[in-house]
Amino acid sequence: MDCIFCKIANGDIPSTTVYEDDDFRVIMDINPANLGHCLILPKTHAANIYDISEELTGKAFTLAKKIAKAVQKSTDCDGVNILQNNGEAAGQTVFHFHIHVIPRLKDDDVKMSFGSFKTDSESIAAIGEKIKNSL
Ligand code: 5GP
Ligand code: ZN
Repeated sequence: MDCIFCKIANGDIPSTTVYEDDDFRVIMDINPANLGHCLILPKTHAANIYDISEELTGKAFTLAKKIAKAVQKSTDCDGVNILQNNGEAAGQTVFHFHIHVIPRLKDDDVKMSFGSFKTDSESIAAIGEKIKNSL
């Protein structure tokens, strides 16, 4: 399989690495939303959150907290976004699970907003019930 994040995570392609352990490599995003934008990459391939093991998911988000604190401390940012895209429709462009840690500054140019979907309370309750029954 020709996966660029597999190669980066396993050190076959060099990257600006800020953290590494047996399961993950954390790198600086090559095209950052803001200075300090990091990516958390598992070393084993999983395309997205549906495919990755529960154990690694837990470790990945625990690591996101650690990286978020380091990003906040080192950039003195006003906020941090934790972003994890799944599927093209959600903005995923590299199909190897990863978590973005993005420092945010008051009035920066990063756009991460969404409008409000036109719906009603019955539809919200109905989809909530469907999700509950899918767990
Ligand atoms: P996605 O849109 O899939 O959630 O995010 C992919 C991210 O990976 C983007 O922010 C993009 O800038 C970053 N990226 C893509 N290719 C490379 C690369 O070769 N090296 C690094 N460091 N980041 C990459
Ligand atoms: Zn991969």
